[in-house]
Amino acid sequence: MKVARFHAPGDLRVEEAPEPVTGPGEVKIRVRNCSTCGTDVKIYKHGHHHIDPPRVMGHEIAGEIVESAAPGWSPGDRVQVIAAIPCGRCAECARGRMTVCPNQESMGYHYDGGFGEYLTVPAKVLAVDGLNRIPDGVGFAEASVAEPLACVLNGQELARVGPGDDVVIMGSGPIGCLHVRLARARGAARVFLADINPDRLAMAAALVRPDATIHTDIEEQLSKLTDGRGADVVITAAAAGSAQEQAIRMAARQGRISFFGGLPKDNPIIACDSNLVHYRELTIVGANGSSPAHNARALDLIATGAVPVADLITERLPLTDILAAIDTVARGAAIKVTIEP
Ligand SMILES: [Zn+2]
Ligand SMILES: [Zn+2]
Repeated sequence: MKVARFHAPGDLRVEEAPEPVTGPGEVKIRVRNCSTCGTDVKIYKHGHHHIDPPRVMGHEIAGEIVESAAPGWSPGDRVQVIAAIPCGRCAECARGRMTVCPNQESMGYHYDGGFGEYLTVPAKVLAVDGLNRIPDGVGFAEASVAEPLACVLNGQELARVGPGDDVVIMGSGPIGCLHVRLARARGAARVFLADINPDRLAMAAALVRPDATIHTDIEEQLSKLTDGRGADVVITAAAAGSAQEQAIRMAARQGRISFFGGLPKDNPIIACDSNLVHYRELTIVGANGSSPAHNARALDLIATGAVPVADLITERLPLTDILAAIDTVARGAAIKVTIEP
């Protein structure tokens, strides 16, 4: 079979590999779609401390079971696979906090991922209910977007996005687009989308139709849009410390700020006016991936039409075009790019 294997930073090769063998408690799937995201770009360029190469990349996975050694699963079942695998046994998992499991492993990092024709789903995934049946009417490409949507859902739960909220999202990539759609589904009053790149912002806005877009003087513009209040929820979906610093200043009283996107690990320190947090009773929250339950609920949000994603998938490419796909993502020239191995 063909796979796209990461060997070293800047060295991702499409090559032949033997088909994986289904072990006890595992299922083997024919991958139909594995979507790409900014994380794939980061791994391709810089590697990752959890990846010991060579490794088949790809963590937004949907496909069809072709072989099953796991009870309850049969060939022909259409499935979506979680990316982050919690251990299910530690103190955090026992408290239901699976997104912060310290023993977390990931598809495409510790195990071969979805940029290949076949993969075996580790028994560990099945043990934590990490394999989801794709509802009828949902395509494989849409189902592959359940994983990033699950992460967005985790972020908005932690930031308590709800009815009546004015929400501003900083960063108009695929994650920003999903944040706009989910905030609407959760009853937000108004959703604003901000990005310093006007082309990317226009492309995203044409699809997800925020109440307003902002691309210059972000703080000033938001202030005008909200009569000086600021936003009830500010979500940073951009890997920039300056955006996080702005976000704190853009929040309304009792506002919530989600540092959804992480910062480069060599430059993670920001300046925070602690008195703003104190007097305005602000809440700053992080977000680290998603739990198996978030994945199941994300798939449900897609299936019911609460959060449509089909129109966000703007490019479908074969596995042999993986480098072109990663380049497109790196340039921000598409919304969601999916690989069809
Ligand atoms: Zn991703
Ligand atoms: Zn755990």
